[in-house]
Amino acid sequence: MLECPCCLLTSESTQDVLRFFWPDHDVRAVLRPDGPCSFCEASARWLDPARLAAERDEVLAHARRPVLLAYSGGKDSTAALHHLRRDLGVETLAVLFDNGFIPPAVLEYAARITAELGAELVIDREAPGRERLRAGFARRLRVAFRGPRNDVCAVCSKTFLRRFHRIARERGADTIVLGNNFWAHSPHTSGGAAPPWMTASWSRELADGATLWHLNLPFASRITRARTREILDEIGFHDARFTGYTSNCVLSDFQDHVRARDGQPTDWGREYLSLEVSAGYLTRAEALEELGRARGAADAALMARIERALAP
Ligand SMILES: [Zn+2]
Repeated sequence: MLECPCCLLTSESTQDVLRFFWPDHDVRAVLRPDGPCSFCEASARWLDPARLAAERDEVLAHARRPVLLAYSGGKDSTAALHHLRRDLGVETLAVLFDNGFIPPAVLEYAARITAELGAELVIDREAPGRERLRAGFARRLRVAFRGPRNDVCAVCSKTFLRRFHRIARERGADTIVLGNNFWAHSPHTSGGAAPPWMTASWSRELADGATLWHLNLPFASRITRARTREILDEIGFHDARFTGYTSNCVLSDFQDHVRARDGQPTDWGREYLSLEVSAGYLTRAEALEELGRARGAADAALMARIERALAP
């Protein structure tokens, strides 16, 4: 078995995560006996911190105020909020979409930290969006809880983005900051399309002709996991300590719980962490530590409650 010395991919990885994130391109990592995998090599070639900082500054300079922050109450978007307010001084509207599975402690923390950092907070509980989210997730659960097409966080993200677009339009904003530590474009994941470097922003034209800009701020500003931890320590982050990969929502825990219960383990964690290493967010050692971190036993009563909530 070959193992990449840079990320965590091995020659036995199914690479489901690469197919999930880039379904339109044949994105594959080729493992080699004597060096980094082809994915890591390409990421290193196209990543230019100075160019990313310039791109970030240009997007924010042109953005109408307030800039909308897609705020989950989790670690990465909290660090992004801090960076926007304290380092960049940007007038910020933080929008937290309550999908019904956000613990009260996260909502209370969001109210406190936005007030402290001088950002406006909107907790969005739009009923049709929530219902769509619940129905979509339940449908995916019922079809099959396996493979690359069933990631619960992706179901949420799509619903959130629709809501963020609407709220941005209502508030006259044209730029949405995301707490995303991945790139928006790179030649090796965009089918060779230009420009020949990694970017952190992308635009989308809405039905009414308006253009909305999106900026993956942690990636653009090279905010690593280590830097995120420093920021969170400084501001006293409330960590709800769920066992999954998110720090603010119980659904990813539930997804892990169902997969383990049904004997459908995936290599998702190892592959996803490999992307975070490629993006420069994690070191390989941090990713290995994360992978080996013992997952706490699932809270049986909580899992049963979620299952009932998601039933058809
Ligand atoms: Zn690699």
